[in-house]
Amino acid sequence: MSTTLEGRVVLVTGASSGIGRATALALSKAGARVAVGARRADRLEALTEDAPGEMLPLELDVTDHRSVTDAVATTVEHFGTLDILVNNAGVMLSSPVLGADTTEWARMVDTNLLGSMYMAHAALPHLLASKGAVVQVSSTAGRTASATSAVYAATKFGVNAFSEALRQEVTELGVRVVVIEPGFVATELAGHITDPAIQAAARSMAESMRTLQPEDIAAAVVYAVTQPEHVAVNEILIRPTDQS
Ligand code: NDP
Repeated sequence: MSTTLEGRVVLVTGASSGIGRATALALSKAGARVAVGARRADRLEALTEDAPGEMLPLELDVTDHRSVTDAVATTVEHFGTLDILVNNAGVMLSSPVLGADTTEWARMVDTNLLGSMYMAHAALPHLLASKGAVVQVSSTAGRTASATSAVYAATKFGVNAFSEALRQEVTELGVRVVVIEPGFVATELAGHITDPAIQAAARSMAESMRTLQPEDIAAAVVYAVTQPEHVAVNEILIRPTDQS
């Protein structure tokens, strides 16, 4: 990985909205060739039309191991290499433990944790070849758990644990592992919460502060992946100033 993104190949998961979309656009603007993955293919087609540089849309479900390996293989076939994986796809279905719909727990674990691990596993041989980087989009919930976020936080603590172990395995081989831990960002994420009381609490939290914008996180990703080769930005915790 070098300090310029010109011609670098990046695969961004969860690029159909929010942080992933903004990050794909920022990387494209900085000169990268970007493969963008998510389930909503129509959104990806629209994104590629907005992109300043070459973008490859990939229908991707990170919970499906075959879909993950296909996405990585298609990226490498199309662009010839893979320099950076931005492991961003995620869902947050917050609710108290008591009475929770456990199918929502499975969706969070399958997407945020297992899906992210499948992506890293499939991309790693290519990242070792390019001496690239993995950007793991975790959360403040990966550092501090709070009521109604038990399972979401468990997935993000898991992402942080996986990332630190992976870092130790690959850093001397030239692959850098970056963990990004955003606080409240204005995206679609909380809109999928099915518990009406928690959904309302998330809305009122958003209204109570100047939230981060997806572009703020995109800028942190671009910063992390444009450092000189001897600099490994391992962790960025980034919260709205108004979030206590
Ligand atoms: P969005 O809901 O806007 O974006 C989530 C993205 O993940 C979408 O592009 C969605 O695409 C994709 N996704 C969900 N499930 C899958 C799947 N099975 N396979 C592939 N893609 C999937 O939310 P954010 O942009 O906020 O979230 C991005 C990441 O940032 C998540 O990991 C989230 O946990 C993290 N984060 C967000 C914070 C916030 O306050 N917003 C704070 C801290 C962390 P599609 O539905 O088309 O598949």
